[in-house]
Amino acid sequence: MNKKIWLSSPHMGDEEFGFVKEAFDTNWIAPLGPNVDGFEHDLEQFTGSGFAAALSSGTAALHLALIILGVQAGDEVICQSFTFSATANPIVYLGATPIFIDSEPETWNMSPELLEQAIKDRIAKGKKPKAIIPVHLYGMPAHIEQIMAIAAHYDIPVIEDAAEALGTTIHGKNAGTFGLIGILSFNGNKIITTSGGGALISDNKEMVEKARFLSTQARDPAPHYQHSEIGYNYRMSNISAGIGRGQMKVISDRVSQRRKVYDRYVQHLSQLKGIRFLSEPDGYFSNRWLTAITIAPEQSGGVDREMVRKSLEKENIESRPLWKPMHLQPVFAGYPAYVNGISEDLFNNGLCLPSGSNLSDDELGSVIKQIENVLTSKSISI
Ligand SMILES: *Cc1c(COP(=O)(O)O)cnc(C)c1O
Repeated sequence: MNKKIWLSSPHMGDEEFGFVKEAFDTNWIAPLGPNVDGFEHDLEQFTGSGFAAALSSGTAALHLALIILGVQAGDEVICQSFTFSATANPIVYLGATPIFIDSEPETWNMSPELLEQAIKDRIAKGKKPKAIIPVHLYGMPAHIEQIMAIAAHYDIPVIEDAAEALGTTIHGKNAGTFGLIGILSFNGNKIITTSGGGALISDNKEMVEKARFLSTQARDPAPHYQHSEIGYNYRMSNISAGIGRGQMKVISDRVSQRRKVYDRYVQHLSQLKGIRFLSEPDGYFSNRWLTAITIAPEQSGGVDREMVRKSLEKENIESRPLWKPMHLQPVFAGYPAYVNGISEDLFNNGLCLPSGSNLSDDELGSVIKQIENVLTSKSISI
């Protein structure tokens, strides 16, 4: 068996271990300490966001963002349908109702048109949505400027899910800094990792301080333990943050390495019939977290996504269908959705290719060769 080629695996730099060792040497083994402060500072510097709170996960950041915006049981929250379930789950944790919005074809993210249609319809039905959660999926920016304009017109706050988009920019401004609140993830497969972790970012200082307060069990200032609000254990550990500080030294390299992986796929595969890549609209800069393609069987001589995926699997190469939209998930089936069929098509025909910044030229070459083989029917032994 060939050595496994992963979709996206952790890629450490040279300095992570130094920060972790320092935490050990100084006995800062806790969900607070110099690495947590340092990592927050690094995130603020890199994203240009005023403030950052380092948390235990991106999901925790979304949960706290919704709480800070006052979302309660019975409220409605608009959410991009084409995403990972972690975007939508925290809405349900709070007893609120997710309202799912389908994608537009250019970036695969939230359709501004459907968003506006949904807002009008929800208001007409008697409830104004409490928040809007667009996502920059696979690192490709959403049409965030249009989304922000619509949100401003109806005066609804935006929580930007930039979990997959650290290093992504739109007209030079970082993903996650358009909304009132942005969230980031540092899970193991993301563009940088702290093993597990996330952050809430905002230019609103009170909101970020509130996130830190809620994430450390909502302790009132008192010598004893006193609580006036329900708290959470969502702070990032000083060990994880040490990994994060090391990773922030190499984030720009990681973005260029991922973009090179994308370029190499395009160079070799884009002329194959039926294969399509997601290109960047003018002024949009994707971190290319994952390279995603669609395969149209009617143009590829009958080769479909599953045939490509299975033939890669046989070579011990991990690839993965695009996210299954939330409005098609059994667990979310009963919730309102405003759909146009685009995310369903993407789910049926789309595939994420190995995209790690640590892929060797040889590994990338063997992925490309296998895809070429399937699509040019040199080996239809599936
Ligand atoms: C990874 C991810 C999250 C959740 O982040 P965790 O740190 O894994 O909790 C949320 N939204 C999207 C789009 C993600 O990809």
